[in-house]
Amino acid sequence: MNRPLTQPHAPPQAPAQARDSAPPAASAYLDAQGRLRPERVRADFPILGREVHGRPLVYLDSAASAQQPRAVLEAVERYATTTHANVHRGVHALSQEATAAFEAARDTVRRYLNARSTREIIFTRGTTEAINLVAQSWGGAQLQAGDEVLVTHLEHHANIVPWQMACARAGARLVAAPLTPAGEVDAGAFAQLLGPRTRLVAIAHVSNALGTVLPVAGMVALAHARGVPVLVDGAQAIAHQRVDVQRLDCDFYAFSGHKIYGPTGIGVLYGRESLLAAMPPWQGGGDMILSVAIERSTYNELPWKFEAGTPNISGAIGLAAALDYLEMLGRERVAAHGQELLAVATARLRTVPGLTLVGTAASKCGVASFTLAGIHPHDVGTILDREGVAVRSGHHCAMPVMTWYGLAATVRASFGCYNTRADIDQLLAGLDKVREVFA
Ligand code: PLP
Repeated sequence: MNRPLTQPHAPPQAPAQARDSAPPAASAYLDAQGRLRPERVRADFPILGREVHGRPLVYLDSAASAQQPRAVLEAVERYATTTHANVHRGVHALSQEATAAFEAARDTVRRYLNARSTREIIFTRGTTEAINLVAQSWGGAQLQAGDEVLVTHLEHHANIVPWQMACARAGARLVAAPLTPAGEVDAGAFAQLLGPRTRLVAIAHVSNALGTVLPVAGMVALAHARGVPVLVDGAQAIAHQRVDVQRLDCDFYAFSGHKIYGPTGIGVLYGRESLLAAMPPWQGGGDMILSVAIERSTYNELPWKFEAGTPNISGAIGLAAALDYLEMLGRERVAAHGQELLAVATARLRTVPGLTLVGTAASKCGVASFTLAGIHPHDVGTILDREGVAVRSGHHCAMPVMTWYGLAATVRASFGCYNTRADIDQLLAGLDKVREVFA
């Protein structure tokens, strides 16, 4: 048979379609001091215009899922209405254009993380799937009886359960570093637990339950000094911090699109190329192979080796649009705005009688978690909801950290680039209401 002139996985020829109409000039989003104007940012998020229970929506649950700006919604719609076809497979124009847009989205993610190569960027369904990929592929190949995986007591279940499963398969042990009363990882204990049996460290960049920012670069350096690779769960950090995987020097970094103003069902695993190259595929199927015979198959190159089946093409394009949107706003400005809101919220919450902040680390972002004496967090959440204020109450998929504090649940207010001081006023007014009801 003659060889075709082009290969299905050859670099895309068609111009990338992932970008939508050019975003408004960043200056429109800035005040005279060059700070972000959240009132202008809000206008880009159609959902924030709706009412809940007859009240204007005050959305303080971005740590669970951030809302999507028009730029993301339009990019996804544009893709679906002009370009959609399956990727990497077709020689026809739509498939070529869809492939180009999908691979351009991968390069946007690469730039956003400052990864060296798109071979290091694997699309997944989200953070959870990214961590499961590493636990099953790397863990399945590397973990042996007697080994240890080191996590911390503040991890999300997504960074605990996959390691429990991998450890159980290998006869290895999951070990968790303790916390200080403020909700920081106890540095001395962490260093001690990092022992000769440790094969991998898996840590959050930012705790979703407490808001603690972990000193990840230092923890990576400590682990690397002992030859131990580090996976960072970046689900909460990605929307609040400039993440540079080369500066962090981490080996894996996982995040979800829906926490950074993108769609659900799309996420990313960054992996150091040398590690990914040595890892076996974790799911088999189309796209992750070069050739298949009944006797055996050969696997595709990175990153496709880890992307079996049709990927979430429109999700990847929406995610790239979200990252472009944040670049347009200015990542440092978004981070500074988040810090300002958290500082204001923290100071105001401290004035509420009976309120205890849970997690008072020196370095925090995005999240204020608290309890109100004598009132169940679910009741607080329900009454706030009636006032139009959306917060999260519960264990935040981080039961070990709740247990650490002797709590079943907290109320969590979390902040995004569209939140304003007026939102914090509404939260405080809602808490007055809660206290009235329970007076
Ligand atoms: N890790 C952290 C720190 C999180 O906050 C979350 C979600 O809340 C996850 C992992 C899981 O993310 P996903 O459900 O998008 O996979």
